[in-house]
Amino acid sequence: MTNLKHKRLELPDLPYKYDALEPVISKAIMTLHHTRHHLAYVTGVNAAMDKLEKARAGEGLEIDYKAVMRDFSFHMSGHKLHSIFWKNLRKSSKDNAPTGSLLEKINEQFGSFTAFQAEFAGASKSVEGSGWVALIQDGDDLHIIQIQNHNLLSVLETKTLLVLDVWEHAYYLDYQNDRGKYVDAFWNIINWDDVAARLA
Ligand code: MN
Repeated sequence: MTNLKHKRLELPDLPYKYDALEPVISKAIMTLHHTRHHLAYVTGVNAAMDKLEKARAGEGLEIDYKAVMRDFSFHMSGHKLHSIFWKNLRKSSKDNAPTGSLLEKINEQFGSFTAFQAEFAGASKSVEGSGWVALIQDGDDLHIIQIQNHNLLSVLETKTLLVLDVWEHAYYLDYQNDRGKYVDAFWNIINWDDVAARLA
């Protein structure tokens, strides 16, 4: 193919080793999640770009635009969300909580960190099927939203601060069908420094 205009995506490295989040998330899950699932989203969005470029070059006039546009959105969103998710996590610690201006902002917007946790956990445990919960920033306000799959129910023109992957591939090997237990353990591995940096 000649004159490719769009840069192809690459799987980013994790900012830690595959066993860094144990015992909350096992090495086995992290390895599969990163090298199989995240890679599939990278491969998927690149394949969508290949098809569109062929069509633009007149090489694939039979292109199914509806399917390709769906694939592009799904895989690109999956890639973006996982890229944030890895950075949102760090080694487990029991006293893990936000501090400083991020904590003040959470208190101002949700009443307390406990109330924030209740809303985030409630949203996470109730995502229908596969999806995510995200803490997003819209101007001076913070909101918690659910995302189905990688790209449904999401809100454009907002900044994503913190995400939790509640697809079964993110927890099933460690927690089987107990998503709630996984969500409750998530609080120990949030990298609040990363979340605070995104807010700033
Ligand atoms: Mn995932």
